[in-house]
Amino acid sequence: MTFQSDESFAQKLDAEDPLRHYRDRFHLPIGPDGQPVIYFAGNSLGLQPKTAREAVVQELEDWARLGVDAHFEGRTPWYPYHEVFRETGARLVGANPGEVVMMNSLTVNLHLMMVSFYRPTRERHKIVIDWPCFPSDIYAVKTQIATHGYDPADALIIAKPREGEHTIRAEDVEATLDREGAQIALVLTAGVNFFTGQVMDMPRLITAARQHGCRIGLDLAHAAGNIPLSLHDWGVDFAVWCSYKYLNSGPGAVAGCFVHERHGKNPDLPRFAGWWGNDPDTRFKMHLLPDFTPRAGADGWQISNPPIMAMAPLKASIELFDEAGMTALRAKSEKLTGYLQDLIDRMPSDQYEVITPSDPAKRGCQLSILAHDDPKSLFRRLQSHRVIGDFREPNVIRVAPVPLYNTFHDVWRFAQILSAHR
Ligand SMILES: *Cc1c(COP(=O)(O)O)cnc(C)c1O
Repeated sequence: MTFQSDESFAQKLDAEDPLRHYRDRFHLPIGPDGQPVIYFAGNSLGLQPKTAREAVVQELEDWARLGVDAHFEGRTPWYPYHEVFRETGARLVGANPGEVVMMNSLTVNLHLMMVSFYRPTRERHKIVIDWPCFPSDIYAVKTQIATHGYDPADALIIAKPREGEHTIRAEDVEATLDREGAQIALVLTAGVNFFTGQVMDMPRLITAARQHGCRIGLDLAHAAGNIPLSLHDWGVDFAVWCSYKYLNSGPGAVAGCFVHERHGKNPDLPRFAGWWGNDPDTRFKMHLLPDFTPRAGADGWQISNPPIMAMAPLKASIELFDEAGMTALRAKSEKLTGYLQDLIDRMPSDQYEVITPSDPAKRGCQLSILAHDDPKSLFRRLQSHRVIGDFREPNVIRVAPVPLYNTFHDVWRFAQILSAHR
């Protein structure tokens, strides 16, 4: 795809965009000039779908009108509420129905998955993670290692980019597995790196880990709703993600969890149990049947009954993804982000260095722009022009034009502001 740098070209791309009407289905924050801001922070907190409010109000009304009976008689009955996502949640990440459940939050799900899939032995107790790694994931991994009586200083292997490079090479992770695979219990990798925006070669890492007899899990915080995924076919053991970033389900939204079918069928896998993971046929036998019988599939990892008020915006949002489809969203996303890259590449100064891979297959929506001189003043300038992105120490500005509500004209305006800086 070749791009042009004038404003009318951006307007033409918007006019031709088959997804352009989705922007009207979101609330866009308005700047002091009365115009919508340039919202490039969908990788941090996605915007509110207009249907989210009515979805929450519906549950408040059903609660007022029906009380406890809304569990079965509500318009979206509460008792099986999590099943609303059985098909749509699975489609979103390329899973079979039953492999995905929406519950808890990301880090909680990561811990629950490690309870089942990090089963260290003296011979095999190490965990591999990728770098840079989000702090919450590091804390979770280190405390899991310590809980089992091992020393994170010895048991944690960090796969880093090579000296002078910003992103990780799959062959380097494979080399680590070749060297230490027999001692590695778990590989945990991002699907899309939060800092660099790199899409990891997930199928390749999954194959390599499994060849060495290691379990592998994915943190899809920056991948879910951003890039197409095929979790079932790739054969990953588990995956977790949050729903407030690309998935637009609101601050602290209920998160996602994938457990591959081959494990979902195994009632003997150790896990932390609660009544919502129990077989619904015996759940209400309560104290008469004190032994836990896990429900088959990812549902069997649920602990508590679902928070309905928090699930309602998630339902509204996932419906939008299901309607637009990840294939169409990805096609627009490649174009939007490609256009942004093109406009940055045209800038004469070498002040900016995009550290995100330039190959569209190796990135999602986000570009991470390293600003060589005075990055904080650049970030302040962007803020004063009502560009909403974010700054990551020491010198990286992350911007993510997203296909559901951003326009090519947003990208063009952003590039004008960026290139006018000094
Ligand atoms: C956003 C993000 C988190 C956030 O964790 P929560 O449990 O949702 O607070 C964790 N890990 C990664 C990689 C993230 O990008």
